[in-house]
Amino acid sequence: MTSAENCLYEVQAEIRAAEAEFARPNGSVRLIAVSKTFAADQIRPVLEAGQRVFGENRVQEAMGKWPGLRNEFDDIELHLIGPLQSNKAKEAVATFDAIHSVDRPKIARALKAEMEKQSRPLPCFIQVNTGEEQQKAGILPADVDGFVAECRDGVGLNIIGLMCIPPIDEAPGEHFALLQKIAERNGLDQLSMGMSSDYPVAVGFGATHVRVGSAIFGVRDKA
Ligand SMILES: *Cc1c(COP(=O)(O)O)cnc(C)c1O
Repeated sequence: MTSAENCLYEVQAEIRAAEAEFARPNGSVRLIAVSKTFAADQIRPVLEAGQRVFGENRVQEAMGKWPGLRNEFDDIELHLIGPLQSNKAKEAVATFDAIHSVDRPKIARALKAEMEKQSRPLPCFIQVNTGEEQQKAGILPADVDGFVAECRDGVGLNIIGLMCIPPIDEAPGEHFALLQKIAERNGLDQLSMGMSSDYPVAVGFGATHVRVGSAIFGVRDKA
């Protein structure tokens, strides 16, 4: 069995290698270690190995594990990478340090209201459904420009970039390229894209945040 900390070091090395390969500045890609479904005891070794940026896809689950881990370790940065219900906006803003899944006006407004109330103006990404998949969250590519403007200028959210999850059965490169293009024309310079199976590819298309779970923590029970 390979330990999570060894896998972490391998993923870090692969990211640095991809940065070099694609002429990206060293250290320009941030690793978000996706710890969903894993318990605090399984996450702790990765914290002890120095990783501080983590991703979770469920508000409730994150609320159960991260307050305790934040007491044990300084400087943890927790990113919400999963879909958000507007009735969870309060807990999400209190629990997370960044939100990757803004994809409709109702969520944008709920987040903004909570951020003001809690004085926590969190950086946000807009999730784009690049594959236009019916079952998938995210705003359609054709609607992104208008939605970015609405979130930034109307609602007043701090939108720093775009996020996508390519269709499972397609080559990810064209989706990463599309996300990069949409971000560029909207003046957004952060790209949250790339998972265990494709993060080196994402680095080649300008990813600034890769979200890597199973390559670090091992396979998940379906959740
Ligand atoms: C689970 C998840 C990941 C990590 O997936 P792996 O294939 O385990 O690396 C990344 N992004 C999102 C949105 C996820 O839900």
